[in-house]
Amino acid sequence: MKLPKAKNRNLFVKENTAAVRAAEAHAAEMVTNISETTRKGLKALIVRAMETGQSPMESAREISEMIGMNERQALSAENYRDDLEEKELSPERIDSLMEKYVDRKINERSENIARYETMSALNGGLMESWQQAQESGLMGKDSTKWLVITDDNRTCPVCIDISEQEPIALDEPFESEYGSTLMPPIHGSCRCTVAVDPGSLDETVSDPENEYVNDENS
Ligand SMILES: [Zn+2]
Repeated sequence: MKLPKAKNRNLFVKENTAAVRAAEAHAAEMVTNISETTRKGLKALIVRAMETGQSPMESAREISEMIGMNERQALSAENYRDDLEEKELSPERIDSLMEKYVDRKINERSENIARYETMSALNGGLMESWQQAQESGLMGKDSTKWLVITDDNRTCPVCIDISEQEPIALDEPFESEYGSTLMPPIHGSCRCTVAVDPGSLDETVSDPENEYVNDENS
């Protein structure tokens, strides 16, 4: 006999393995300016982080050992060096300031990557578990989702726009100038989440008494 409690626990375990699968499928795809070997390494790192529940901050520390700056950062580093040279500092002083600058930029980038990849995998896993819930009748075929922003002065206007749109079907992507994506993150430093309306339930599954009786009889 299946108890509802055991069922819930099952769903939770599925959700974690779903995040691992999401990482296996798509982790590190969006990271620019890295070699394919580094991409493979990053992917393995994120998959392991999903398996062990490692925090994004811990992942960021490991990532900072693997990557350099992105293109935009490399350009601003060049500008920074130009500024320092104009100030006529000693070469040693310039080198040491540059080293600190580059370290700081790589740390920032590593944190962004860790946050983005963690959110992608968790949300990808969530999406998969919702689809499974739909297939097994725990959520209605008419379930909808909508974007929930972190509302403060850093909130991106594109995400505010999406969050004000009507709820969409689970398998419909959020469309914006960043392209179309099933789940956030919508862009690099996106802090959005998704809320879901489970829709109308399949009656044969939604009535717990009915299910219990069925289980007893089988
Ligand atoms: Zn966002």
